Amino acid sequence: MEQNPQPRSEARNQNPQDRANNVPYVTPTELEACRRDPAWESRQGISDRVVCRECAASVRTPMGGKKGHLWVRHRISVADYRAAYPSARLYSFRLIAQVQGCEVGELIRRTAERYVTPEELNECRHDPAWEKLCNLTDVIVCRQCGAKIRSALCGGTHHLSQHGWSLKEYLAHYPGAPWRTAAVADAQRRTAARLRADLEHKKRATVASVRWQKNNPEKVKKIQAKYRARPENKKKALALNRNHRARIRVLLQAAKRPVDWHKRPVAWRLIATELLLQDYLSNNELAQRLDSSNILRCPYESTWRASVESKGFAEFIRRIRSWIGRPGRIKGKTPARQTGVTP
Ligand SMILES: [Zn+2]
Ligand SMILES: [Zn+2]
Repeated sequence: MEQNPQPRSEARNQNPQDRANNVPYVTPTELEACRRDPAWESRQGISDRVVCRECAASVRTPMGGKKGHLWVRHRISVADYRAAYPSARLYSFRLIAQVQGCEVGELIRRTAERYVTPEELNECRHDPAWEKLCNLTDVIVCRQCGAKIRSALCGGTHHLSQHGWSLKEYLAHYPGAPWRTAAVADAQRRTAARLRADLEHKKRATVASVRWQKNNPEKVKKIQAKYRARPENKKKALALNRNHRARIRVLLQAAKRPVDWHKRPVAWRLIATELLLQDYLSNNELAQRLDSSNILRCPYESTWRASVESKGFAEFIRRIRSWIGRPGRIKGKTPARQTGVTP
């Protein structure tokens, strides 16, 4: 599988401004080499410039950002650039050393060591067992950019996110390629085994505890009473109750329901729910709804509609309307909306 990016522009159209500024350009052979090697600058010992893999310009300024070379010259984002040239450098070693306060030479040396050569990358892309063959036990190679990774491609280091890939996508491109070192695999296997054992232990303990409680109800009652009698637990229970009541109050207010909602009979709450569903509902419409929903039997007549004119019904509904602040219509007037008005 050949994953080397195809050169995107062979011709080196030297930018007039770059020419005026004497920006050097690498040769076509060098351009080809550095497109295949993210560590090309470090292997060449170039400390104060970065080669643009797109146009071969060797620039001092940063590559990324709105004022960077990539955007100013090519109108391409860092993500697009690195999709074509995985892990290509964006900053010169000198700039990085200034920011990090480290030694340039050391930085260059470490970077060169961190990547396999393009030839090695080509070999390992074709061979999932390449690390084993080379006796590399403490690193694995990212088949996309050639970085030597000391832990895993995903997880803590998030190396694959640089390539915009998930582990699944990586393995689809490079089937069978290792994605974690043997040490990490070992540690992860041990952690998984420990978690499994813990879970088993907890399960067994729960089963034993439930069995014991079932066989010793008197002892359980004694323990619970002792627990509740402790002053700190009494306080906790009171606070919990208070919080619970406050939460219910907020929920009722949000649903525009009176705070004594749960103290009223079910019939009240069912009828009030119907009345609260819309701004105004006449007694006739309400009776129709109650009949069609068929969950509440009418105590006055055979159906709610038949009982609309009865005194008992009118009084019953008036009390509910008054309770939730949804009065009925007064003949000849617009529906009153707020306070308890007789229907
Ligand atoms: Zn360029
Ligand atoms: Zn990589």
